[in-house]
Amino acid sequence: MSETGERDPSELTDEEWREGLSKEEYRVLRESGTEAKFSGEYVDHHPDDGEYRCRACGTVLFDAETKYESGCGWPAFYAAEEEAVTTTLDTSHGMRRTEVRCATCDSHLGHVFDDGPEPTGKRFCINSVAMEFDGDA
Ligand SMILES: [Zn+2]
Repeated sequence: MSETGERDPSELTDEEWREGLSKEEYRVLRESGTEAKFSGEYVDHHPDDGEYRCRACGTVLFDAETKYESGCGWPAFYAAEEEAVTTTLDTSHGMRRTEVRCATCDSHLGHVFDDGPEPTGKRFCINSVAMEFDGDA
């Protein structure tokens, strides 16, 4: 989103978001959409190190070390970077889930469940399209 410069992402207008993101990115990040199962570019992505940033604002969200193979069809992490994400109860689609959003720009990222591995027991189930991998970290 180069054209947005130094502005606080929470101040962007809807039109500016549409300009800066692809259709699919906008649908997931700004309309709480979900990419198709096993379709995301980071589902089978297992780098030794690096980090995953918010596709909308560039904030570091997850460390590659916390990524694991959950088999659920979306990238899964057992921990998020401290204070990088916010979680809220989501009762849409007749389910009780915990939604995960970027703490910086309030974009939708995915959901977190309590069936993850040790040490946290969490499974952050995140849309690939909501992230951008940064391997030079
Ligand atoms: Zn963000």
